[in-house]
Amino acid sequence: MPEASYSQPIEKLLDQLGATRSGLTEAEAAARLGRYGPNQLQTAPSASPWKLLAEQFRNVLIITLLIATVLSAFLGHGIEAVAILVIVLFAVLLGFIQEYRAEKAIEALRQMAAPASKVIRDGREQMIPALELVPGDLIAIAAGDRIPADGRLVEAVNLRMDEAALTGESLPSEKDFAVTLPPQTAVGDRRNMVFAGTSAVHGRGIAVVTGTAMLTEFGRIAGMLQRVESEKTPLQKNLDKVGASLARAALVIVVIIVGLGIVRGQPFIEILIFGIALAVAVVPEALPAVVTISLALGVQRMVKRNALMRRLPAVETLGSTTVICSDKTGTLTRDEMTVRRLYVAGLDVSVAGSGYRPEGELKIDGGSGELPQPVRELLQAGALCNDATLDRSPEGEWKISGDPTEAALVVAARKAGFDERDLRNRFQRIDEQPFSSETKRMTTVHRSDATTFAIVKGAPEMILPACSLALDASGQTEALDDSSRRDILEKVELMGRDALRVIAIARKEGSGAGDAADGLVFIGLAGMIDPPREEAKDAVERCVAAGIRPVMITGDHPVTARAVARELGILRKGNVLAGVEIEAMDDRALGEAAGSVEVFARVSPEHKLRIVEALQKNGEVVAMTGDGVNDAPALKKADIGISMGISGTEVSREASAMTLLDDNFSTIVAAIEEGRGIYDNIKKYLTYLLSSNIGELGLMAGATLLGIPLPLTAVQILYVNLATDGLPALALAVDPAEPDIMKRPPNDRKQGIFTRPMMALMLAGGLWSMLVNLVLFEWARHSGRSLSEAMTMTFVSLVLIQFFKAYNFRSEREHVFRKPFANKWLNLAILWELVMLAAIVYVPVLTTPFGTFAMPAEDWVIVVGGALTIVPVIEMTKWLIRSGRL
Ligand code: ATP
Repeated sequence: MPEASYSQPIEKLLDQLGATRSGLTEAEAAARLGRYGPNQLQTAPSASPWKLLAEQFRNVLIITLLIATVLSAFLGHGIEAVAILVIVLFAVLLGFIQEYRAEKAIEALRQMAAPASKVIRDGREQMIPALELVPGDLIAIAAGDRIPADGRLVEAVNLRMDEAALTGESLPSEKDFAVTLPPQTAVGDRRNMVFAGTSAVHGRGIAVVTGTAMLTEFGRIAGMLQRVESEKTPLQKNLDKVGASLARAALVIVVIIVGLGIVRGQPFIEILIFGIALAVAVVPEALPAVVTISLALGVQRMVKRNALMRRLPAVETLGSTTVICSDKTGTLTRDEMTVRRLYVAGLDVSVAGSGYRPEGELKIDGGSGELPQPVRELLQAGALCNDATLDRSPEGEWKISGDPTEAALVVAARKAGFDERDLRNRFQRIDEQPFSSETKRMTTVHRSDATTFAIVKGAPEMILPACSLALDASGQTEALDDSSRRDILEKVELMGRDALRVIAIARKEGSGAGDAADGLVFIGLAGMIDPPREEAKDAVERCVAAGIRPVMITGDHPVTARAVARELGILRKGNVLAGVEIEAMDDRALGEAAGSVEVFARVSPEHKLRIVEALQKNGEVVAMTGDGVNDAPALKKADIGISMGISGTEVSREASAMTLLDDNFSTIVAAIEEGRGIYDNIKKYLTYLLSSNIGELGLMAGATLLGIPLPLTAVQILYVNLATDGLPALALAVDPAEPDIMKRPPNDRKQGIFTRPMMALMLAGGLWSMLVNLVLFEWARHSGRSLSEAMTMTFVSLVLIQFFKAYNFRSEREHVFRKPFANKWLNLAILWELVMLAAIVYVPVLTTPFGTFAMPAEDWVIVVGGALTIVPVIEMTKWLIRSGRL
């Protein structure tokens, strides 16, 4: 048995894996991928199309109908039996296509949401889908990364891992790459290894992959799936229930109709087939699939607008969102930091230039000339306590890698002629404390000849209290007295008011990273601008119009935050709450305050959870963005957790319901718009479907109660169901959004989809249809026409009424004549159905099974005239809705 990865010296293990410290070559990686297969846990294969198709027949009603039909064929009703079979097959096929598409759409989503991983190949760091990792690959690990495979650490700095998913241990475990462990060390004690399925909470490291897919520790105990969950949405669950009670109610009515029919002496098998056909028609069995399709299709549209949904239920919640809490940096702003001003030893330095191009003059108090020593020291220190680098692409574009705040410091240093790579070679880094949003500071320790020194940079109020000395204009240290402290704080405030993010930089001689907590020498301040995203301003406006409150959450100073928020239009009343104030409040006080706060500043990730909870207690439906590991709890708690596709950590993405592929605030608003549209369409579909069913069932029940013949045959009723439930209903599910969709308040989540206006429309449409058809049938019967002529007229009238309703129900409030033909799918569907209708009425092979007759023109006039009355009835209902009476 080969020796375990953790009990070998690193070099020997690398040899054994055929790996090097600059990573595999692309060619080798590709070859290995062929050999080892994708890095993916084996999950249950998705349902095969055949299985899905077979499931469509597992419907008691359909089975009974089929059996009864076969029976009736033997009793001499062969032609009707064939017609029924054909229609049922079509209905089943339609159901299958719907479910298959839904399944495929969800599968595609799963693939899109698949995790990515940072690897080093050919000496370059790059992102690849975690699926493509192979043994021997080098993976770069940073706080917030989900580990995609098992690996042995070859480098680690303060790396701490959350291994709870694997070992159950809730405390983070410290990693150490330098140790070699004895064989048989338990998984939880393998300090030099990282494992698939766990995540980094702190520090960074590099590991060589030792096992992928089912060969990882995780694969061995397998089970957890990294994929989009296909749980049912609240609406789906609700509709399942509604569907079940409707089915029960419908069945009772059907039983009554059949019972009365038998009592009145109709042939048993005929009335039975009729009853079951009616039940098949009115039980809304397609409901769940259509809802899934609407959701899934909507989700595909969202991806085109850069919003990737990771959980279907969130699509519905989007439509009821009342508050969006958004991070500032990168989401509302461009995250392209540029240092504009420095403040060193009482000197104000302006920095020219924009973006990452390292060109621009540094001017002291407005004049040019040689930069004094302390300014040079500030720039050098800023580039040293820093992990970002600047490069020029072959096309001549300047590109950064690393954190934009740090990149801004690198660019500023380059403008003064200091190259970060030279500096980092000259002053080797020997220790570090990485930046975190909690401490808001970062420390690095460097060696210079025989001595060592530490550099600390971070938020001024975190750094300044630890400083006891400061640099003077000649570069000497002097005591930092209260008046200079005040001056510095005043500068911080002034820079903040100009929307600058301020970083303070300090140093300490001969210090390790751990003890650079006090006695620091203050070097200076750097103020950088991060311009707001142009499109965010517009999106903020749209939010407000849509009754959604945009709230900014930022780690930045309140003054900076206020300035940026004002520019974006988020700050209207001027309510800013700082992290320290949140800490001083209990949950109740925070709840009261949160109702009107527009900006939360200087907050840490743990405040975010409290903010979400406070808002939710106030009855808000909260969307919240987050990118770091520590944001995960807030993202989970929020009604819609939103993660970042570009800058976010894998852990935050997994905790979220939606990922912004472009990290852009306006994408959230676009997603909400889509969410509202999807919800609207499901509602339209539902109104149409249920109203049609009420019309059909009402007609039959009415005729039975009146003791008159049944107005439709089994074949006809099945056809009406296929024609209306089928294409037109589907077309409504993809109806274009109404223009006022972002001008009305969010959907009320408590009220659900069955709002009063919706019920009113459904009932008005259904009952009027019943009435018109009963009257028409009775009149036709007594007008000297035969029963089958009267039935044909009723059949055509019912179908036409449903088609008119499809157009009418495209809006709850707007009248039907506003862009009536905007939905081209609906137009096509109706056109097709009209052709079919004409064929059923006129083509001889069809008239026999359908029991129709060729209607003369005058009958058409009567039927169309009667059917058209549905339009004013629904329009009047809409008018009552608009005027607030319904
Ligand atoms: P937002 O929450 O809007 O996205 P943010 O997450 O960028 O803002 P933090 O990253 O928590 O906010 O930054 C808070 C403060 O920490 C900044 O105002 C700055 O003073 C300081 N800071 C940010 N980045 C660094 C860094 N790399 N090194 C040292 N200090 C930093």
